[in-house]
Amino acid sequence: MRALLKIKKIAVPPLLRELAAVFNAHGKQVFLVGGAVRDTLRGARHIDWDLASDAQPEEIMRIFPAVIPTGIKHGTVTIRYKKHSIEVTTYRRDGDYGDGRRPDSIEYAASIEEDLSRRDFTMNAIAAELPDGRIVDPYLGRVDIEKKFIRCVGKAEDRLNEDGLRALRALRFASQLDFGIDKELLRAIQANPEMIVPVSMERVRLELDKIIASGRPSTALLHMEKCGLLRLILPELARCRGVEQKGYHHFDVLTHSLLACDYAAHNEYKQSVRLAALFHDAGKPETAKRDDTGVWTFYNHEIVSADITRSIMTRLRYSNAGIDETVHLVREHMFNYDDSWSESAVRRFVRRAGEENIQDLFDLRRADSFGMTGREPPLNLSFDFQDRINSTLAKGRALSLKDIAVSGDDLMRIGISSGKNMGFILRQLLEAVLDDPELNTKERLLEIASAYDRDMAE
Ligand code: ATP
Ligand code: MG
Repeated sequence: MRALLKIKKIAVPPLLRELAAVFNAHGKQVFLVGGAVRDTLRGARHIDWDLASDAQPEEIMRIFPAVIPTGIKHGTVTIRYKKHSIEVTTYRRDGDYGDGRRPDSIEYAASIEEDLSRRDFTMNAIAAELPDGRIVDPYLGRVDIEKKFIRCVGKAEDRLNEDGLRALRALRFASQLDFGIDKELLRAIQANPEMIVPVSMERVRLELDKIIASGRPSTALLHMEKCGLLRLILPELARCRGVEQKGYHHFDVLTHSLLACDYAAHNEYKQSVRLAALFHDAGKPETAKRDDTGVWTFYNHEIVSADITRSIMTRLRYSNAGIDETVHLVREHMFNYDDSWSESAVRRFVRRAGEENIQDLFDLRRADSFGMTGREPPLNLSFDFQDRINSTLAKGRALSLKDIAVSGDDLMRIGISSGKNMGFILRQLLEAVLDDPELNTKERLLEIASAYDRDMAE
């Protein structure tokens, strides 16, 4: 017999025991379900708890003093208990999935077994009764967890037709848990990837975020490509397949992008860097040209890639701040530093990039570099440039209008009127200081400002 099947009970945290005692005192059952049970059985930590109970939302609200009706339409409430938030969903049986998006209505189910039968994968259809932790596992999810295997509860085709998001969830779990995927499930996705089309962008985005946040995003993304989901969700990436770029690069643009994204994930770089790693070369198919010697070139691809990144992330309803951050990294990823750069070139780079983004750009550069060869880039990849930036900034930090030694008020005091000229003169002063930080004194800048003002009056 398999080892995990021998596990009949899991350890239950004291807080959940206390909660269960309250349910039981009112004649109600309560089970821990979903990811918490799955992850406990895998020997991993899971932060949030989902509970299932035969108590209906109104009853739970009567039993506990602090209950928030967070998802009443789906039979879900959140109990606030000793500073924890615990979601409880009444046993459910899903109504018709008319359009493959979401059940049209919910009905309550009669037992935990019936509730488990509507869940997506066997590993997610295990319950642990509270307070004692006794396992209820009608689909032998424990066997699949042990085999590291994702399999639908029941017939894959039917389960995917009910809710197209399950296809993406399966691939997401493969990346997150490093699990394999049942052949029948993969075939069912491949046979009808269009099932994802009616699913809302927000739900798709949440899965994509979890893929990007996982240890190896390429697992899911390659499955997506093979099953036909990539061209539906991220067509801009799908068409990078087969775009060759011989030279420093060993791989086509899609493999390069996936390796870069994996490197960013492996090194726990932040989300915007991971997304930038994935999308930074999406403009290459459009900009590819062979030069006279037969070598592929991609002039200005970073500009096209930045536009494509904006359009992908807008479509997926990312926040404006998240979009701007990622687009900026993509736009600036091509800096090519060498020690012939002048001080003012370094300062201008820092101004364009923004001091706060420089570490992210260096991270992206490492990921990009890994994606070219699949080999760890040299440890000192950006050391020289970092040193140059530090020493340059130490000499003068004026990088934006707020850093220069005069203000608009100072200029008004010497008779320059606010309006078009004022803005122009201030920008010229900043340019002068970027070229020569020693000019950044009130006296020198006021002299330069008056000279501009006189010129413009003539
Ligand atoms: P994680 O929280 O790490 O994403 P999870 O398994 O807890 O993993 P949730 O999205 O929180 O995933 O869902 C909780 C449980 O609800 C799942 O384990 C599964 O049993 C069920 N579930 C969630 N989404 C679906 C769905 N689309 N179809 C069927 N069952 C689902
Ligand atoms: Mg969960």
